[in-house]
Amino acid sequence: EDSNVDVIIIGAGMSGITAGKTLTANGITNFIILEATDKVGGRIRNSDFAGYEVELGANWVEGVNGEQLNPVWTLAQQVKLRTSLSDFSNLSSNVYTASGPLPPQTDADAITTAQNEYVINLSVNLTANGDDDISVLTAQRSYGSVPSTPVEMVLDYFLYDGEYAEPPRVSSLKNTQPGPTFKNFGEDLYFAADPRGFATIIKPVASYLQSKDGKYVDPRLKLEKVVNKIVYTKEGVTVSTEDGSTYTAKAAILTVSLGVLQSKLIDFQPDLPFWKLEAIFEFDMAIYTKIFLKFPYKFWRTGPGTEFFLYADDSRGYYPIWQHLERELPESNIIFVTVTDDESRKIEQQSNNETLAEIMEVLKSMFGPDIPEAEEILIPRWWSDRLYKGSFSNWPIGVTHHEFAQLQAPIDRLYFAGEHTSALYNGYIHGAYFSGIDAGKDEITGKINLRCTNQTGIRHT
Ligand code: FAD
Repeated sequence: EDSNVDVIIIGAGMSGITAGKTLTANGITNFIILEATDKVGGRIRNSDFAGYEVELGANWVEGVNGEQLNPVWTLAQQVKLRTSLSDFSNLSSNVYTASGPLPPQTDADAITTAQNEYVINLSVNLTANGDDDISVLTAQRSYGSVPSTPVEMVLDYFLYDGEYAEPPRVSSLKNTQPGPTFKNFGEDLYFAADPRGFATIIKPVASYLQSKDGKYVDPRLKLEKVVNKIVYTKEGVTVSTEDGSTYTAKAAILTVSLGVLQSKLIDFQPDLPFWKLEAIFEFDMAIYTKIFLKFPYKFWRTGPGTEFFLYADDSRGYYPIWQHLERELPESNIIFVTVTDDESRKIEQQSNNETLAEIMEVLKSMFGPDIPEAEEILIPRWWSDRLYKGSFSNWPIGVTHHEFAQLQAPIDRLYFAGEHTSALYNGYIHGAYFSGIDAGKDEITGKINLRCTNQTGIRHT
């Protein structure tokens, strides 16, 4: 299959689908979308588990009930997505150690909260004074104490790693604290648990590809097309896929994850310039893994204020964050544990049975030896997946706004979008959404229109 179009969008996640919508709104309809998998949605993806639908990737609409309206929340309303408000307020009363549950940890909680307030204030001051960036850990040290007991460490892990999937040692203070997501859109998080899958929120954006009954029927959407080569010049692009197809266009919008850009999956000709590669390699692709477990019956606490619970191990980040689904999937007896970073890498490489054995040992120390064995386990492997190579980007210490701008910058007719190109909201669905709008807008539509004028004298409207 060979064809010639105005624009090639690579990737049918939130950013690629939004870019297509924006092109459409600007009068450019002669585009195609090349997507490697057989689905729309990318990192918003559900899977059947023990007869229920669970989310392997994004799970929350993050940043709700604040000053500005999060566009993802608007989409969720449009499709009447089933969600529930996550309640983290009682967390420090739900901490377990290797020898069982702890009494409510009011002290440790107060310390973590006070320290986080200090860290945020310091960040605001550094920004106001135009001072250099520091890591979150440096800010914690300057507070006077760093979390060091298992309980302090797990509360700290929840606050930072639980959100950014990398430890305070790695994360940029000025670009993660306070997170613009929560500052602008609000502090609340809504957990998606919808039998249609969270990816249903993309449907209102993708109406230009659908039939009246919501099926993806438009032939411009080309699934199971793994792009492996992009030749770009000042005049246009030629994109090749693994099945031997070649597509030429006046421009391409590349929305593959930062992890894919850091890999060798796509051969760029000529090589991407060093300033671009440097920005790509400097930014971080973090790993966030939710491991789902199905039990024959519940042995965890249920009722208000029990949804989230923490395991405080001597080793920071060892099966730390737990969540039950009593409200969302009441009779399912499914719980899940979240790990990140090196623990995720380790778990992706060992067998599911090895991981299950580790998890059962942890659960037995939390709840006693008499708990039942898990009936099923589900472990997403985002890091090993060549189409993602991680879960979402995190802004590490050492990357300036100038370097970030280089991550976003186009090269000739090759444009970059995706969550990792959103300066305020990298790592989030809404970041992907805004990046798709930006990529579809001004510059690219302007250039394509200009080129049409030069070549044919007819201007697109
Ligand atoms: P993607 O969704 O990755 O879309 C890019 C598309 O490109 C994919 O469909 C991919 O298949 C395709 N592709 C890749 N390589 C090629 C190739 N060579 N050729 C053709 N196609 C290719 N965000 C939140 O807001 N809230 C959350 O709770 C949340 N939790 C998360 C938890 C996990 C485990 C993960 C993985 C992500 C989470 N995120 C969360 C982040 C959110 O999912 C992403 O920021 C967002 O979905 C990214 O959209 P995107 O369009 O930028 O990229």
